Amino acid sequence: MERKQDRAPIPADWTYASAPESREIVELRERYGHFVGGEWLEPQETYATIDPASEEPLAEVGEATEAEVQLAVEAAREAFANGWSALPGSERAKYLFRIARILQERSREFAVLESLNGGKPIRESRDVDLPLAAAHFFYYAGWADKLEYAFPNRKPKPLGVAGQVIPWNFPLLMLAWKIAPALAAGNTVVLKPAETTPLSALHFCDVLRQAELPPGVVNIVTGDGRTGAAIVKSDVEKVAFTGSTEVGKAIQRELAGTGKKLTLELGGKAANVIFDDAALDQAVEGIVNGIYFNQGHVCCAGSRLLVQESVYEDVIDKLKRRLTTLRVGDPLDKNTDVGAINSRQQLEKIQELVASGEEEGASIYQPPCRLPEKGYWFVPTVFTDVAQSYRIAQEEIFGPVLSVLTFRTPDEAVEKANNTPYGLSAGVWTEKGSRILSMTQRLRAGVIWANTYNRFDPSSPFGGYKESGFGREGGLHGLEPYLDFE
Ligand code: NAD
Ligand code: MN
Repeated sequence: MERKQDRAPIPADWTYASAPESREIVELRERYGHFVGGEWLEPQETYATIDPASEEPLAEVGEATEAEVQLAVEAAREAFANGWSALPGSERAKYLFRIARILQERSREFAVLESLNGGKPIRESRDVDLPLAAAHFFYYAGWADKLEYAFPNRKPKPLGVAGQVIPWNFPLLMLAWKIAPALAAGNTVVLKPAETTPLSALHFCDVLRQAELPPGVVNIVTGDGRTGAAIVKSDVEKVAFTGSTEVGKAIQRELAGTGKKLTLELGGKAANVIFDDAALDQAVEGIVNGIYFNQGHVCCAGSRLLVQESVYEDVIDKLKRRLTTLRVGDPLDKNTDVGAINSRQQLEKIQELVASGEEEGASIYQPPCRLPEKGYWFVPTVFTDVAQSYRIAQEEIFGPVLSVLTFRTPDEAVEKANNTPYGLSAGVWTEKGSRILSMTQRLRAGVIWANTYNRFDPSSPFGGYKESGFGREGGLHGLEPYLDFE
């Protein structure tokens, strides 16, 4: 009999064909102003925001001065006083539900924009950032008319104007984390996206227009740290900040004694703890997802791997093999696992810390990998032979760089995991439920994942201890910082 497969062509090359998402789906303006009182305010100063994967400019955006921030705060105050705060919760909910639905409808467009301006793989912006941002608005829409039940006998009242400053790692998702609970609680906001990733927040103003949100309820101003500092100093009732611990501390000093409410979501240096009874292949997937997700630009990234000595070699072998299969490159390619580093500045910070790891004596592993010529890139990296005192074990790298440490006993794992100024998140991998429970009791971290990593849900509070900040976002806890009680 004739054997058909003999004549089937044998591929000479098993690399993927590229599968680029269409860039055309997003229509950008050449120039954006500040979104104040429902209108575009012509900015006094501007700068170009770029695509970090190509270094091509995408649009001109404003650099808000103190006076422009002042206008935004006034618009927010007016909207608060002229109806928004007095609106029944069920009416506020309608706007939030609308925003959530429009985000879902336009999710492909926003996912492309998020990858263009931030460098993250389209697979992640499509499957994580956008669905979660919409889910956050849906979730808080559901609370808007139930505040008295959420806080029984406490007579919750909105605060007024919230000033919100967000980072560049999850631009639209962080916007959702900030705006949804603030509006559900009856506040109005002035929000500043990070200087490297302003476009999704500016594009979001069109969603607000579509949802017919009353003018001034949400105001967006763009600019760098000076604009952020102007918001913090301005006449707002509440400041919500996500970003570096250094800036978080400065904000806390600035606000001390002013009576303004403050929540800080800062950095992390999370331990991802692998016990010898864990399902190792799954754990390796969790390690990869823990540190290489979003190029490691994740405050809760599992950047310190703690492996029990008896399985150390197995885990490292599997991990290195897995790293050779990660695809680094074009963020808009649907096959890409690791995209571009967000900015030149962040790339330099990663390079500096990686150089320090090599100097201090750690062993570096990087899989063979061809990087694009233009843009900002960093090969997924693993450091072994790491001492707890090394900078790569202590400092947040905020890049695709994993530091591996080992332990023998659960006590030692806890000791090492907690040996950090941070306390945002941790991971535990083990077959034993009792061990999961005892570890979660002893690890000093706001979020602990068991046999998984980097999972988020709007109903689950997120936030840290120690230098990772204070206050929680998500869940019922996330409403409280936006309310006053009698
Ligand atoms: P950053 O803290 O400087 O910036 C975060 C946001 O704060 C941006 O919108 C920025 O414009 C604004 N900002 C800066 N200075 C300010 C000030 N004095 N007052 C008010 N707002 C100000 O962070 P970065 O410089 O972009 O990144 C540095 C490091 O911070 C990273 O390497 C990482 O370790 C950490 N980081 C953490 C997170 C997080 O999600 N927790 C996010 C971004 C960065
Ligand atoms: Mn900074």
